[in-house]
Amino acid sequence: MAWLIKCSDSKCLKKETWAANIVDLINDHRDENGWFVCSCGRKGYVEKSFPLQERGEVWEPFLKGIITLGDEGDTYQPFVFKVSSKRNTYPDALWFSYYKDLRAHGGTLKLGYGPGGPPVLHKDTVLLLIKQLIKLDIIDKVKIKELLIKSTLPVEQRLKIAKFIMPKVIYVLKKVTTRETTSSFRSPPYE
Ligand SMILES: [Zn+2]
Repeated sequence: MAWLIKCSDSKCLKKETWAANIVDLINDHRDENGWFVCSCGRKGYVEKSFPLQERGEVWEPFLKGIITLGDEGDTYQPFVFKVSSKRNTYPDALWFSYYKDLRAHGGTLKLGYGPGGPPVLHKDTVLLLIKQLIKLDIIDKVKIKELLIKSTLPVEQRLKIAKFIMPKVIYVLKKVTTRETTSSFRSPPYE
């Protein structure tokens, strides 16, 4: 299946860039942060439309990029699409998906995709899932804490995530982050 990337800049002369298949889309049409790019170098998006079971209703997501989750060389490659509900809004949902590439072994390139396939989760639902996984001890909260502390996200964003997942981490984060920044740090309301 080929993928059409439309340029986010309406004045772009290239306007449209095609990726031959999901592997091509992932390997050759994303920037270092996983956003889709037009051949002019600016960000782009893939516009999709799916009829739903509910009569007359359609789902029209704007796919802005892909976060890969697989290990290099594996035939099974899970990934998530960063999904926006509108053309010009920042992604607010994640669409879990995968491809399986057996072309080198005489097989085909199979994409697990489309309604009826894996779920689309709102970003808040992903956080709720993480919260549950921590509670059930399936994900180790120490590892989450380490991720947040080592993250390059802006301080306020890290505090926001930490507050939602586990308030106790905030104290640790504050120690680390106040050392890092002084100008952008504002007292959070939950102090
Ligand atoms: Zn362009």
